[in-house]
Parts: sequence; C-alpha cells; structure tokens
Amino acid sequence: MRLPAKPEERITLETIGEAKTPVTIEHDEVYGVPTLEELGFDTEGLVSKVFRGGETEALQRLHRHLERKAWVASFEKPKMTSQSLFPSQTTLSPYLRFGCISARLFYWKLHELYRKIKKGSDPPLSLHGQLLWREFFYTAATNNPNFDRMSGNAICVQVPWDKNPEALAKWAEGKTGFPWIDAIMVQLREVGWVHHLARHAIACFLTRGDLWISWEEGFKVFDELLLDADWSVNAGMWLWLSCSSFFQQFLNCYCPVGFGKQADPTGDFIRHYLPILKGYPPQYIYEPWNAPESVQIAAKCIVGKDYPIPMVNHAEASKLCMERMKQVYQSLLKQRSRVSLPKQIVYNSDMDISIEDKSTRGNHPSKADVITNEENVMLGHRSQTSDSESDGQITVKA
Ligand SMILES: Cc1cc2nc3c(=O)[nH]c(=O)nc-3n(C[C@H](O)[C@H](O)[C@H](O)COP(=O)(O)OP(=O)(O)OC[C@H]3O[C@@H](n4cnc5c(N)ncnc54)[C@H](O)[C@@H]3O)c2cc1C
Repeated sequence: MRLPAKPEERITLETIGEAKTPVTIEHDEVYGVPTLEELGFDTEGLVSKVFRGGETEALQRLHRHLERKAWVASFEKPKMTSQSLFPSQTTLSPYLRFGCISARLFYWKLHELYRKIKKGSDPPLSLHGQLLWREFFYTAATNNPNFDRMSGNAICVQVPWDKNPEALAKWAEGKTGFPWIDAIMVQLREVGWVHHLARHAIACFLTRGDLWISWEEGFKVFDELLLDADWSVNAGMWLWLSCSSFFQQFLNCYCPVGFGKQADPTGDFIRHYLPILKGYPPQYIYEPWNAPESVQIAAKCIVGKDYPIPMVNHAEASKLCMERMKQVYQSLLKQRSRVSLPKQIVYNSDMDISIEDKSTRGNHPSKADVITNEENVMLGHRSQTSDSESDGQITVKA
C-alpha cells in the first residue's frame, strides 16, 4: 500500500504574511462562540470538562503521545487497564473527529517515529493500524448512505432484534444493575469518551450479548453522547460488534461481571462513576446483588432500593442471544453454503460466555422469526480480516 499524502503545512504568521482580518469592536458579541447557558443548557452540576478544544491542545496531546515512544512502539492492540479506562492527556479521538488535528499528521508523525525506533507490531494491530481502521470504515461507508441502519444496507445482516424501549432506556441511562456496564454508560454521558474495549462491553450487552436490541439504537446513543462520534467509524463498529457485518464470531460474548474485573480488579472505575457503590469491597463491587445483607448495609447501598437489581440473568440471556444469532447465521448459511459455522462452542467462564453446539433448548425463536438478507455481500465473499478488536483472539474468515 502506498503511504498517504503528507499533511498540509501548518498555517503560521509567516504564511499569512501581510493579510489582515479587520476585527470590529463588537466582534465577540457578533461572532463569538456562545456559552452553554446562552444556548439554553442547564449547566448546574456538570462535571469539569476533560477535553479542552482546539488545535494547540491537539498538537500538545500528539506531542505527549509520541513522547511515550516505548509505548507507541510496543502498541499491539488496545489493552484495557484500570488506568486506561480513564481518558488521558494523550487521548486524541475527539480532536481527530473535529479536525483539530489531521489523521495524516498523526500518521506521518507515527511513521517517522517508527522509522527511528522500529520494533514491535505492524498494522493492523499497531497504533498505525488503528488509524488505518478509521480509513477502512470511511472507505466501507463511502457510497452507502444507509451504512448507519439496517434497512437498505447491503452489507448488514438483517437480524430480527427485539423492540424494548424500557430496556433500551435502562441501558442508555446506566441503570442495568450491572455496575461495570452502568459505570461505562455514566462515563459516556459525563465525559463523552470511553475506552475501546469498554465500548465493546456496552455494545455487546445491548445487542448480541444480553438485551438483543438493535445496534441502530446503540449507534444513536453513541452519536449523541460521544465527543469523538464519527458517522463511519461509529456505525462500522456497531455493525461489527453486533455481528451484523465484518465479523461473525458471535458464539462468545463479554461477561458484564468478569470482563471489567480482569482490567480493574479493585473496581475503582466503578466507584468513580457510581459513587453510590463506593462502600462495596472489591469482592462484591462487580456483583453487589451477591453481597450478603450485612455488606449491603455497611456499604449504605441496598440492591433493589438504592441500586437496581440486574435487569437480566446474564448466563441465561447470553445463551439465548447466541442461539438466536446462530439461527440467523444458519438461515443465511442455507442460502450461502460456502460459509462454515464453528462446530464447537466452548464455555469460558470469565471473559466470554459460550455454549455447546447441542440442539437448542428453551425459549429461542423459531426459524420463521429470522429475516435473512439475500443481498448480504459479507457472507458470500472469501475474505480474511484481522480483528481490529481488542481481545484480539479473533481472525475473521468468511
Ligand atoms: C461500538 C463502538 C463505537 C465506536 N465509535 C467510534 C466513533 O464514533 N469515533 C471514533 O473515533 N472511534 C470510535 N470507536 C473506536 C475506538 O473505540 C476509538 O477510536 C478509541 O477508543 C479512541 O480512543 P483513542 O484516541 O485513545 O484511541 P487510540 O487507540 O489511541 O487510536 C488512535 C486513533 O485511531 C482511531 N481508531 C482507534 N481504534 C479504532 C477503530 N477500532 N476503528 C476505527 N478507528 C479507530 C481513532 O481515530 C483514534 O483516535 C468505536 C468503537 C466501538 C467498539
């Protein structure tokens, strides 16, 4: 692949030369950026802002980013640690989103750095690769005005998601009863940024993991609340996470208890965004409903009164979701026999939950419920895509 074009030169006073923009006395009044209050927002109780806007700030962040040379060189995929769950002084996505910094500049600065100290990984897993994923989604969305929806979107598997406004509202407001999910949703609302793998967790929970609600709803909530909300990347990642396109590894899903615990065993992230749970010891903070009454009383937070009871039984809900997704794909398979489904589905207690490929049990949809999309190009193609994701174990072979 050829390297992208170099970024344009920065505009400096020298570039501008003699040119002058006359500034009148009422300039700020007429052209100034209105405050939130002037725009009619209630600002009381708002937490202080994490991201200061503008190019100067973006360049400083890029500089700090590159200063962490060892980290950049050894970056292999977005890992999640208790520290990285919080936005840092080097987080750049909102700045890329608003054009405060160009993707080309970021790319070329990384390129120069890699040339100097090259070791470690190559795209797609390197930091360079993350930027290429951005371009990948831009490319995939080009000429597809329906990229952000199911209807009329030729690359989207037509999954018969449930309509459940009540459950959707609980998810969106961070009231699912799973502290890990709720804390992430509060962070999304308060800060407008969430770690990549935490986005995985909440996206999986809403769609193929627990609630079986359409990714389109999640896309809309992210679009409203993310500072880095980007039409192509957001829709592309929701398509991916919900197994509606790009990715068919639907036979595992993130556990809303175990996944977060691995990254942040003490639960400080939860305590930060859900102070109501701050009195809980690490042992119970991810699953306060399992805490004995004495612990709940000591923590001054009774589950069912001060904090919600989990809205689903995750073990049951995720099994059912996986069965449903399996049926969707089996139905598609009938039409496109070239794609093979995994035979063995293994139960992996901590991070993922999976089921055995036995005949299905219990309450699952009949095949008639499954709407297939004959035009689904993803299933027909023989392609191999390395996973941009995270838990990284996945190679998608269609
Ligand atoms: C459901 C879901 C929705 C998402 N929606 C968005 C979105 O609207 N806007 C957005 O910028 N990112 C989105 N992402 C991708 C990713 O989570 C963010 O780009 C990342 O968390 C931003 O943090 P960072 O700047 O520290 O990333 P870094 O890891 O430092 O990556 C550097 C840059 O590469 C790009 N990038 C990183 N990961 C990806 C990826 N998987 N796909 C495409 N580009 C990537 C971003 O521009 C990012 O700023 C989404 C991920 C998921 C799972």
